[in-house]
Amino acid sequence: MNLNEYQEKAKRYDCFEATNSLKEPGFVAKVFGLSEEAGEVAGKFKKILRDDNGVISQEKENEVKKELGDVLWYVATISRYLGIELEDVAKTNLDKLESRLNRNTLHGSGDNR
Ligand SMILES: [Mg+2]
Repeated sequence: MNLNEYQEKAKRYDCFEATNSLKEPGFVAKVFGLSEEAGEVAGKFKKILRDDNGVISQEKENEVKKELGDVLWYVATISRYLGIELEDVAKTNLDKLESRLNRNTLHGSGDNR
């Protein structure tokens, strides 16, 4: 399965109609959901540090994998609402990182460095 196929299949689990307006509850819910799920990923790692001395067991890795999948679902869905294929999101990200690597700007800050 490629990323665009995933994005298409992910539509099945969306309770809202696609919209590109932040004034629509479905869109806002996705933005909040993405933030929530990213927080859940961080929470899993926090608990691994707190409770397991930073050692990631297979069980915890599986839990993190599920939360990463939730993040992916929101990224795919928000992208779809905006009319952007998930493959395009991935390619754009790799292009940006390659450019930064080539210009020796992987470190530092700023979205457009
Ligand atoms: Mg989750």
